[in-house]
Amino acid sequence: SDDPNNLPEFLESGIYRFPYSNAAFIDPVRSLNRSYRRFKLSPSAYYCRSFPSVPDTQDAAEVVPTENPKKRSRRAKKKKKDVALNEREREADRRHQEARPFLAKAHEALLRASELRRCMLSLRRNGEIDSADDQEKVSFVELGLLWQAPFYEMTINFAQQEKRVGNGGESGNRVGEKRVVNAFSNLVCNDTSDDAEAEFLNCRYVLPRDSCFYMSDLLQIHNLIPAVAEPGFHLIVIDPPWENASAHQKLRYPTLPNRYFLSLPINELAHREGAIVALWLTNREKFHRFVEKELFPSWGVKHIATLYWLKVKPDGSLLCNLDLSHHRPYEYLLLGHYDNEGKDLEYLSQLGNKLDKTVIMSVPGDYSRKPPVEDLLCQYIPCKEPRCIELFAREMRHGWISWGNEPLHFQQSKYFHKE
Ligand code: SAM
Repeated sequence: SDDPNNLPEFLESGIYRFPYSNAAFIDPVRSLNRSYRRFKLSPSAYYCRSFPSVPDTQDAAEVVPTENPKKRSRRAKKKKKDVALNEREREADRRHQEARPFLAKAHEALLRASELRRCMLSLRRNGEIDSADDQEKVSFVELGLLWQAPFYEMTINFAQQEKRVGNGGESGNRVGEKRVVNAFSNLVCNDTSDDAEAEFLNCRYVLPRDSCFYMSDLLQIHNLIPAVAEPGFHLIVIDPPWENASAHQKLRYPTLPNRYFLSLPINELAHREGAIVALWLTNREKFHRFVEKELFPSWGVKHIATLYWLKVKPDGSLLCNLDLSHHRPYEYLLLGHYDNEGKDLEYLSQLGNKLDKTVIMSVPGDYSRKPPVEDLLCQYIPCKEPRCIELFAREMRHGWISWGNEPLHFQQSKYFHKE
């Protein structure tokens, strides 16, 4: 059952590592908060989707997820009818059967961790100071498409004095300095060691210390390369806007056909000593085939490990049944390696062995928001301060560059409260 040493570490870092299992539970709020000094993420804003949960008074350890028996028999009947699976469905089923034991084992470990599950019940309320922030919403995606986009400016208010050499962006700030910068197609950096605040069209945004964003469409991604310059990145996290039939998703953000992702300049972004590429992937078999047969080969990336993100509710139960064929409670994080020189580095085989089939569990935040995985990945990169970039980002991180058409989306001050 619980390892008593894991809880204090979890409360500090937001990561709970399960003993004797390749699994971890992440509280993204605690983990992301390590990027900030004066601001903290608001847990209720992060966990904005409400998942039915048990009352707080009930002992979390006693809650075992149950399944509606009617649903089970409906599914069994349907399965009988669909005996003739096509080739793609068979492949999807094989992939699921391969993942299943790891997912089930990780979930069992979570159900046994009674102390952790007690904490999970209060994830939404942890340290909350409610800020009644009724700010307007800015659609960066829409503004970025206007002809006026290059003329939009934002004001950055720096609170900190320290002068730092950033990731190639401007540096040398003074206390209370305000700087006006182009909001689009420009590398904007907070190169101080304190949070900065940005103002844009009557909305406020929090920029973590030592972080940069570049807001542009994929069509302009090549302008990012000279801005971030040599020596490139050790870790490249990519969460592409995969096409999805769901109208719900279309309302959230635009999607792109697969062929557009082939043009991502991974070779130019990769560090000259090689890079780890971490790619988020849904369950659609079509995308898995595309990544294996076209995307990774065209980027020159070699697959080294497969991780799973298992979505749970605050009471520890799964978001939906593990075996529902059209709606699984997990997604994939594929790790690959880019290397110019074709070297077989020892740390890579270690990283592959250690991380393959790792199950990351978390209570999901807003639509398609992924848990932060840098702490799990960076420890295996043999470099004291790995250079990291996220592509198609909707938020910023301390020490990272975030690129996408809305990298400030979750930086709006309504997602934070001041310490
Ligand atoms: N990783 C993000 C998170 O955890 O919140 C979610 C990323 S979401 C799957 C994909 C992002 O790609 C969306 O923000 C979407 O607006 C952006 N996107 C879609 N089309 C784009 C384009 N042509 N150029 C740049 N970004 C684009």
